[in-house]
Amino acid sequence: MNSLCKLSAQEMRQGLLDTEFSAVELASAHLDSIKESNETLNSFITITEDKALAAAKAADTRLSSEKENSPLLCGLPLALKDMLVTKDVETTCGSKILKGFVPPYTGTAVARAEKQGMVVVGKTNMDEFGMGSSSENSAFGPVRNPWDTERIPGGSSGGSAAAVASGQAPLALGTDTGGSIRQPAAMTGIVGLKPTYGRVSRYGAVAYASSCDQVGPFARNIPDLAMLFAAIAGKDPQDATSVAEDVPDYLAEVAEKATSGLAGLKVGVPQEYLVDGLQPDVKSAFESSLGVFEKLGAEIVDVSLPHTEHALATYYIIVPAEASSNLARYDGVRYGHRTAKADTLQELYAKTRGEAFGKEVKRRIMMGSYVLSAGYYDAYYLKAQQVRTLVANDFLAAFTNHCDVIATPVSPCTAFKLGEKTSSPLEMYLADALTVPVSLAGLPALSIPCGLDTQNLPIGLQLIAPAFEESKLLSTGNAFLTEQPFELKPLTSGGQ
Ligand code: GLN
Repeated sequence: MNSLCKLSAQEMRQGLLDTEFSAVELASAHLDSIKESNETLNSFITITEDKALAAAKAADTRLSSEKENSPLLCGLPLALKDMLVTKDVETTCGSKILKGFVPPYTGTAVARAEKQGMVVVGKTNMDEFGMGSSSENSAFGPVRNPWDTERIPGGSSGGSAAAVASGQAPLALGTDTGGSIRQPAAMTGIVGLKPTYGRVSRYGAVAYASSCDQVGPFARNIPDLAMLFAAIAGKDPQDATSVAEDVPDYLAEVAEKATSGLAGLKVGVPQEYLVDGLQPDVKSAFESSLGVFEKLGAEIVDVSLPHTEHALATYYIIVPAEASSNLARYDGVRYGHRTAKADTLQELYAKTRGEAFGKEVKRRIMMGSYVLSAGYYDAYYLKAQQVRTLVANDFLAAFTNHCDVIATPVSPCTAFKLGEKTSSPLEMYLADALTVPVSLAGLPALSIPCGLDTQNLPIGLQLIAPAFEESKLLSTGNAFLTEQPFELKPLTSGGQ
């Protein structure tokens, strides 16, 4: 692998300013890396080579005229989950139903990154419409983990995570509805942030479950993550649920706190997350992480989030309900796939959807329609909404009375083998048990690597903060990784 692909985004920025290399060289190195490893990893659905080279050329022009005044991300390669719509570039959501769909516009997060001069190298593979935890539910075949290609990279943003972990891109965007940024970041040894609900515009992020969906960044270290996050965050008139809260200079805040330790910080540990199903080495890596926080001067306090055990069931009522409604638009009339022959409108809908949706998507639509149907609405959907409030209130009480951030494992297990959980939807859902409560509460959460399991696979630590306190997450995560650095083996050993 070209050594340019191993640099951090900050080093790339410096190299570009010092004219050690150009944005075109940087883009070419990453495109080569993608071409070399995509056959194995299957992390990209579309590679946008021509557009990337043109964007890189434009970035070079800008860099040479604006120099230090150019935006921080100018000329840096970016991979995009194929859930984010991109003008003139096919956007599939990992589904056969959207095969051939070329959007007429670019969504806000991507447009903001492009405005900074970022170079989009391609669209990454994912679980169909974000529904899954392993990136195996894709119409374009499963994504493989660069740490061990017999294993899954997590999901649903598995392609974006694998791309960043393997040197195909220094930065990527994903979406997180119930863990889809945090869990693949954990399983590939990189960092990923699910922002507060409303922090990043959802305009142009294809809707899965609108009350939980958030766009967020992946990177290989916290300062890089902060740079990308700052670029995409903030109010957007195109998304009424985006919030007009000031966007701090995340990178400056991380840098400012980089050497000050964590004295005075209270880290809450909810016992409800240290469940029986936790893989033993995940548990021990988590426990030794608490020692790292203490070493940095933080205080560990026990907190209780008593409704945690109901969160997964609640999520799997509310989210499929929203999905069943959001996915009603794929009916063969307007987007993507249309069945070859239908005699009636009803038949057109049924055949199109029957032919082109995958098994998990159909399962979610059926579950969602069921919990919303007359007679069951009160018992399931309404009840779930009430429990959702209780889950959110648990976090609120913990932050108000006991702690500044909460630490938990990201996933009960590390990267499993391809096919290992595909026959049991319930087992697959359990991979999200520790990430979905945060999604129901709309809070920000960061995933950082905190060790390796007995098979040398990465283990993730989840840090949760009150709404709009992403800065606190980033500086805490940065302090942790400075104290206990993590070696990204697929990159340092040359990759697949
Ligand atoms: N695995 C979870 C689900 O299938 C989360 C997915 C996501 O965050 N998009 O709903």
